[in-house]
Amino acid sequence: MALSVKSKPYIIPEYSLTGDLLSYQACGLQYRYQNRGALPPSTPVQLWFGEFIHGVMEEAYKTWREDPMAFRFPRGWKEEIRVIEMNVNRRLRAKGLLPPPRLFCPYDETMRTQGLCPDANHPHPLLASQRAEAAINTWGPHLFPLIDNAEVKLKGCRDMVGYQSGVHRAQTYSVTGVVDVISSISLERAEMGNLILHYINTHPDIRAIIDDLSSLNYEIIIDYKGMRRPPMYLSPGVPNPTWKAHEWQVLTYAWLRSHQKDAHRPVAGIIFYLNELIPSADDIGDLKKEVKDRLTDISPTSRVDKQALEQWRKGSKKSVLSANLREQRSIRLIPITEESQQQSLQAFDGVVLEIEDSIAREMRCGSIRECWRQNPQEKTCTACDFKLYCPAVQGKYRVSLP
Ligand code: SF4
Ligand SMILES: [Zn+2]
Repeated sequence: MALSVKSKPYIIPEYSLTGDLLSYQACGLQYRYQNRGALPPSTPVQLWFGEFIHGVMEEAYKTWREDPMAFRFPRGWKEEIRVIEMNVNRRLRAKGLLPPPRLFCPYDETMRTQGLCPDANHPHPLLASQRAEAAINTWGPHLFPLIDNAEVKLKGCRDMVGYQSGVHRAQTYSVTGVVDVISSISLERAEMGNLILHYINTHPDIRAIIDDLSSLNYEIIIDYKGMRRPPMYLSPGVPNPTWKAHEWQVLTYAWLRSHQKDAHRPVAGIIFYLNELIPSADDIGDLKKEVKDRLTDISPTSRVDKQALEQWRKGSKKSVLSANLREQRSIRLIPITEESQQQSLQAFDGVVLEIEDSIAREMRCGSIRECWRQNPQEKTCTACDFKLYCPAVQGKYRVSLP
């Protein structure tokens, strides 16, 4: 009797919108070492803050939902927000994510020594706390009443465009993502004075999509980012892949979401760049350069802001920009059309194919460094754990002894 040969297990590669698409866009080689090699970065400042601010917003929303009438804005930091922060910090610690010193004070009043803080007067409202407070008090009153679903898991399947038998691993791949917030809006109950709806309704392209709807209900896809607003261009005429990738992320979420059965038509995506609410001195330095070179889409328009930015020097106070400008820079609106979704999906397919090509190349030649695209950008490289071995920046960085 002939025994049948067990066929090879059929794997469907899984790609996540943040973990794969965005990391690969930043630098292919760094992505290979970090994500596919499962080596977490050793200085995960952005990783920690990203998780922290998501946790804080989520928990603040849950507290608000229990009793909206009793939840008054603005929330006091020491009396109300600090409890949330400490809960989130405990959860992150349990996952092995420790708060970076000088960004967050992890102590309460019972701590008698200075620890890693400037003095022993704990708790200190350091930068992470200032941003958490600003995020809750600026966007919470407008956002929380609009939230329909938080942390919505999405998954879908796509054909691997450009698939070659014997080269690539599979003919299909799956896309996964978690949307921070889905807002379901009914035109019948348009909230008066809601700042987010004001931004939506006054955006001409989004307004046109809403006016064209055949139903009274629509959705908004919302994503929080614990980072500053990226510039549209890296230098004059050179588009910033990160700026574009954030748009694709939201558009792909919208596509995945529109295939779920309880979904209404998503008309817009909103990304909140929460660091913009309280920029650091480095952030203001970067903004100054971006405004001068016309790389960013939101520049100061008032005379006061223009002057403040012009006169700003390294070492000046960091809180020079008006609340209005900081608010505008913290919100990005993305109209969702059939066409823009298709473009983002094609772009996503293209990135997946590039990654699959790199995997196939690496399997053939065995050298990681030669098979993955490098994207040397000063900021990414300085924070990169692999800069000493990376061919793209050879000799630029040296081992520094403590
Ligand atoms: S040093 Fe720069 S180019 Fe090299 S892997 Fe790291 S981020 Fe990429
Ligand atoms: Zn402290």
